[in-house]
Amino acid sequence: MNRKIQDFIQWMLIDPRHPEIAKAQYNELKHQIPALYALLMVNAIAVAYTHYDVAPSYLTVGILAPILVITSIRLIAWVRAGATELGTEDSIRKLRQTIVLGSLMAIVYITWSLSLDGYGGPVERGHVSLFIAITVIGCIFCLVNLPQAAIMVMLIVNVPYLTYYMLQDHDVYIAVAINISLVCLVVLKVLLNVYSGFCKLVRSQADLALKQKETQRLNAENERLAHTDALTELPNRRYFFNRLETLISQREGTGSVFAVGVVDLDRFKPINDTYGHQLGDHLLAEVGNRLKSLKIPNFEVCRLGGDEFGFLYPGNMEEATAIGQRICEQVSVPYQIGDLQLSVGASCGVALFPEAGKSAHVLFDRSDYALYHSKTATRGRTTVYSAEHEARIRSERAIESALQSADLSREFQVFFQPVVALPERAVVGFEALVRWYSPVLNEVEPDQFIAIAERTGLIHRLTKSLFEKAVRQINALPGNLTLSFNLSAHDVTSVDTVVALLDIIRRHGIDPRLITFEITETSVIDSYEAAEICLQKLRSAGVKLALDDFGTGYSSLGYLHRLPIDCVKIDRSFVSGIKDQVAGDVISSIVGLCRSMHKICIVEGVENKCQLDALQNLQCRLVQGFYFSPALPFDSVHESAHATGTVAGLPLSDRDASEDFRLSTA
Ligand code: C2E
Ligand code: CA
Ligand code: CA
Repeated sequence: MNRKIQDFIQWMLIDPRHPEIAKAQYNELKHQIPALYALLMVNAIAVAYTHYDVAPSYLTVGILAPILVITSIRLIAWVRAGATELGTEDSIRKLRQTIVLGSLMAIVYITWSLSLDGYGGPVERGHVSLFIAITVIGCIFCLVNLPQAAIMVMLIVNVPYLTYYMLQDHDVYIAVAINISLVCLVVLKVLLNVYSGFCKLVRSQADLALKQKETQRLNAENERLAHTDALTELPNRRYFFNRLETLISQREGTGSVFAVGVVDLDRFKPINDTYGHQLGDHLLAEVGNRLKSLKIPNFEVCRLGGDEFGFLYPGNMEEATAIGQRICEQVSVPYQIGDLQLSVGASCGVALFPEAGKSAHVLFDRSDYALYHSKTATRGRTTVYSAEHEARIRSERAIESALQSADLSREFQVFFQPVVALPERAVVGFEALVRWYSPVLNEVEPDQFIAIAERTGLIHRLTKSLFEKAVRQINALPGNLTLSFNLSAHDVTSVDTVVALLDIIRRHGIDPRLITFEITETSVIDSYEAAEICLQKLRSAGVKLALDDFGTGYSSLGYLHRLPIDCVKIDRSFVSGIKDQVAGDVISSIVGLCRSMHKICIVEGVENKCQLDALQNLQCRLVQGFYFSPALPFDSVHESAHATGTVAGLPLSDRDASEDFRLSTA
């Protein structure tokens, strides 16, 4: 019981625990109170008018006038309040003020009206009674949204009213007073019902607003997650392309430029392969942090996937290049992860809007093309897509289309470059090098079309067709000459191709020990697992494997240990600089390393006598190069081999296939 009374009192004083209801109450009330005051004033003036002649003028005018002035002031204040929105605390304060002021007004008006009752005849007295009755009911109605005030007004008016008329000792007055009081109670009951419905509505609206807010928050969070890369917490690929599209549409036709950059990590793959994916992920997150900390205004950087990042920057070529360079430098600073100190590099490609393209995919492709250029030619640097690249893309497209329609067996030839044994200078075998005479493009360099054949998937057919031709031709030469054949990255990871190559060896009945497949580090690095399976398959069939272009990659020694290879081919760049102390030392140490690991070592690119002498001093046993012979067409090799037992003036070796070991240990 006590609790209920406490609750009631708290409710009467406007419960601050329901601020949303207080606010809604105030908002409704501010439209109804002016009507209440207007009603009060009009009714009071009417009573004063009918009593003007019968009551003293201090009552009808003297007292009423200031009451009306105060009422008008309140009315105007409420009309003004209608235009302003209050916060919850102010609303509560205003409601409490209204209850107090309303009660005071009720006291003033009931006192004033009852004091008029002593004047005039029954009609005037009836008017007073009617005035009080309709005014109080009207006021209670106007206070429907503030029942606390309605209850106060009703009590303040009805108690003296009922008491006063009960004491009049006149049946009609007593009946009217009881009647009015009952009506007031009923009205109050209805009013409280309406109010409770109002509260429910407000609460459910508040709940709904809360839910809507939560839904909005969740939507925003989902949106953020959908555009964020989980590992680095950078914006992701989707965000990158959305932003790119937006930038294009904002800047189209405005003459303003912006840069699209793609950054790819160098040496990340071997780190990932060696230390595992968990460490690789950790490293990527660290790279992400470095990129986040760059703090370049208007610069947006995203992770596009794998070890590739993209950036957008509203600036010109110079600015974009500077940013690309800054990224490459920042990323290259070594990382301390646990006990390990790791270092990766970064290469960057940039394309500028609108110069390089006007659509998202063209701009991205071009920055990717520029990146490819950085990766292959200027590792660790930034390349901006230029007209030169444009021309190259055109020529690549021409090669691609000529390649698609080429007749492989007629247009492609195998040329043979002798592999020469020192010091006797005898030809022990040949490296097969492809030549393409296209009826459309004339002669095309292998470096150009091999990459395109790989990209278009044509390489598998080409490799099989060329290898078949090369095996047939080497078989037609006298003696036991070796054949070295270059395999591309795609061949090295395709089991089907490997099976087909072994089948060719078997069908032609050639001793597999005479065949060497040349591979490069870069060709196995991207899919090491797949390559390893293929290489083991080849090796167990008895053929040899050579690591080509040795010394140009980045983790040469690591791969020398990991890959199942028999032979190392030292890249010609070392020979051309052999006079230089460093290059000479490199060759010397690789030759020594091969000897201690029992691997055959071939030095490529010998172009003059001076180089040859230097190599002989370094105890090199096998060499290739223009000094002896370029790659020759089969017909000339065949003719001279049979006619004179020489090729390019050098005698053919009469060694046996099983003698290779001698070459590595000599
Ligand atoms: P590679 O395997 O390193 O081949 C050696 C390249 O150096 C050949 O160029 C050869 O002509 C050239 N060369 C030989 N001796 C000298 C020299 O003393 N000085 C100089 N400056 N160059 C010399 P080529 O024939 O243009 O081949 C280029 C590349 O194309 C090859 O590099 C190889 O990676 C690839 N390739 C050639 N034929 C084939 C093939 O049948 N299949 C595949 N997958 N790739 C091939
Ligand atoms: Ca080669
Ligand atoms: Ca080579």
